[in-house]
Amino acid sequence: MPHKGSLATILPLFVLFCAESPFMKPVPDHAVNRLRTWRKSISTRPFLARGGSVPRCEACQLRRDWCACDWRPELKAEVGFCLLMYDSEPMKPSNTGRLIADVLPGKTWAFLWSRTEPHPELLALLRDPEWQPYVVFPASEKAPARLTEQLLTAPGKRPLFILLDGTWPEARKMFNKSPYLDALPVLAVRPESLSTYGMRVAPKEHQLCTAEVAACVLEVAGEAQAGLGLQLWFNLFSSRYMAGRVNRWPGEEDAVLQQALVPFLNPMRENDENRESTLD
Ligand SMILES: [Zn+2]
Repeated sequence: MPHKGSLATILPLFVLFCAESPFMKPVPDHAVNRLRTWRKSISTRPFLARGGSVPRCEACQLRRDWCACDWRPELKAEVGFCLLMYDSEPMKPSNTGRLIADVLPGKTWAFLWSRTEPHPELLALLRDPEWQPYVVFPASEKAPARLTEQLLTAPGKRPLFILLDGTWPEARKMFNKSPYLDALPVLAVRPESLSTYGMRVAPKEHQLCTAEVAACVLEVAGEAQAGLGLQLWFNLFSSRYMAGRVNRWPGEEDAVLQQALVPFLNPMRENDENRESTLD
């Protein structure tokens, strides 16, 4: 018999509390969330994310009282994304590769990066005749012959965009030290020439985060609506995330983003009946 107060007696109460908590939103079943769960399971120490003391929504990773799940768009696109994530990247609340999987769950794959032991499913995906893989990278000093700014996808194939998800030095390391990517064309995105560029929250230099790169790539691939939907989802996430760090609600900017996201929402989705709106 477990004695009073032991884990065995507390756990059911905790589960009950979570199930009934108004903060709980269903965590989307997609590649990045599955990778995060697995990555956590193999950690020998708890992951201490920046801002880790803030109670967060498990689904959108924003602080619970500013959860954005009800505004998550559902998008359609004929292209695919393959995220190569650096080590603890899937566990970071600030990670934006997750936002791509949020809106295109059936078209997004995610793997932890390894120089010498890439996941067999990653290698199979790269060989899959349905897809034409492109490594998305700003520029390549290593192999300028591989650079392209437009998609030349063979008939019967669809573009698969490989995104290197980590800090800038980590992305460069993944680009330079992944032999299994060396034969693939490199798509160089020029965001300043795209319409989605004007949607950026805080333009600085030419460094985009992973979700913004994906939004640009969607536009290059002729999927401008999906690119816009992803950019708006990123903007809402980013705005609330940054606001959370200074504890100041973004206000009018948030209402504008909600308005812009309305056409991308699925009105039939469960759990959205109580969507709190500031549109009125
Ligand atoms: Zn949420």
